[in-house]
Amino acid sequence: MTAQSTRQPELSFGSAWRYADAPDSTPIEIAHRYGHFIDGEFVEPADGKHIATINPATDEPISDIAAGDESDVDRAVRAARAAQAKWARTKPRERAKYLFRIARRIQERAHELAVLETKDAGTPIRESRDLHIPLAAQHFFYNAGWADKLRYAFAVASPRPVGVCGQIIPAGAPLLMAARKLAPALACGNTCILKPSELSSLVVLRLAEILQEVELPPGVVNIVTGGAKTGEALAAHTGLRAISFTGSTETGKRIARAAAETGARVTLQLSGKSPNIVFADASLDQAIEGAVQGVFFSRGLSCCAGARLLVEEPILGEIVRKLKIRMATIRVGDPLDKNTDVGPLACKQQLDTIKAYLKTACDASAQLHETSASPLPKKGSWCRPTLLTDVHPSDVACREEIPGPVLAVMTFRTPDEAIAQANDTPFGLAAGVWTDKGSKGREIANRLKAGVVWCNTYHKFDAASPVGGCRESGLGREGGIQGLRPYVEFS
Ligand code: NAD
Repeated sequence: MTAQSTRQPELSFGSAWRYADAPDSTPIEIAHRYGHFIDGEFVEPADGKHIATINPATDEPISDIAAGDESDVDRAVRAARAAQAKWARTKPRERAKYLFRIARRIQERAHELAVLETKDAGTPIRESRDLHIPLAAQHFFYNAGWADKLRYAFAVASPRPVGVCGQIIPAGAPLLMAARKLAPALACGNTCILKPSELSSLVVLRLAEILQEVELPPGVVNIVTGGAKTGEALAAHTGLRAISFTGSTETGKRIARAAAETGARVTLQLSGKSPNIVFADASLDQAIEGAVQGVFFSRGLSCCAGARLLVEEPILGEIVRKLKIRMATIRVGDPLDKNTDVGPLACKQQLDTIKAYLKTACDASAQLHETSASPLPKKGSWCRPTLLTDVHPSDVACREEIPGPVLAVMTFRTPDEAIAQANDTPFGLAAGVWTDKGSKGREIANRLKAGVVWCNTYHKFDAASPVGGCRESGLGREGGIQGLRPYVEFS
């Protein structure tokens, strides 16, 4: 299948920002139909059902993926159980070798994986190529290093694998999300059943080909595709010893209830409404760049999107003015184009949800500013980066996660007020603090209810640094030594 191109619409500001189209036209082989990956091979779903996966930038079908049901999930769990004892007994340094091989193959096939993620998930190629795929490889490298050093990772000697793990991941950054779960689980000697989102399964199925190439023993990793029903069947399976979920808080609560029935250990990475706090003494241009990249470039799909900008009152006018100038240079369009900043939304339903939130915000009191009035591509679902001003901390737009590139701007007068506002949502995922004073940044960070706090930067990830949330943003961590903890138990 050849690369598809959606023409970048003309931007309505000066010619300085007009770039020639630069779509990545690398041809990628995509089968017209995929089965599940169970026991080391691709198999047809039990009831033969498939669902179409579409290119969100063009609304054109790319391929069909299997729609898993209870019997497919059960088959995958049985394969994982059969492989568990042998994989757990495999010498840790041998397990490490498999992880190193997977990491190297991801690096070798990085461009192909990036293009595939971009076509299937709509991630701008710059982000999939420069961030998601390299980080996915890094998670396998990092955890390979731990495989034979696990007893040094914990204060207690002889950690043991938990057993068969179910893992469910969201639509955004599919390969990275898969790597964050699979790499530590495998390093610790567990076997897995992974369910990618029905909106972005193709790059995860390509990972299955890599697992075959590196001759990972059959059954150690199984991939069952499908939608919510497939996820429900996996979460409810009594053969799981642990379940790890990344996605919305609403679904996460269902997973937790199902795990309470089965007794599986549960780890949850959920939604957020993360604040960026900008003090008057900060470098404002840097803060604006952090805010823009932190929420707009990820189309609000990243868990850590900094969707609230809390600005010290005297600099509000300057910040909004500079933000509008910066926003006018953001390019929305074909995600395969190397100059594109913001790609399409995952689906039409996402656009409807965003529109409903924006209407509620405007009905309340909010002023809405969009990037530019230039036309968006005709096919696909698109949302221009949008700024909301004149909003109050109690507004729905400031308290609930809006699944799109929407930034709400509020003001504070004192550090205490900034902290109170930042903590005033049910979530606790990430936060940013922008100030010239190191001690102030540290003090504020310590008082924020968030799993990750960045100072004078935003949205920076590393396999060695744990991420995760508190309150309604989740339970447990991924990445770093902490990311191994859900996958071990002690005698
Ligand atoms: P989602 O909850 O709709 O779906 C996530 C996964 O769960 C998908 O694979 C889906 O098929 C599956 N699923 C849906 N309903 C299910 C059910 N009833 N039982 C079992 N599985 C079910 O989330 P999404 O729209 O794919 O992703 C967006 C959300 O994910 C946002 O809220 C975002 O903040 C969050 N997110 C969090 C992190 C993090 O690390 N905290 C990272 C990325 C995304």
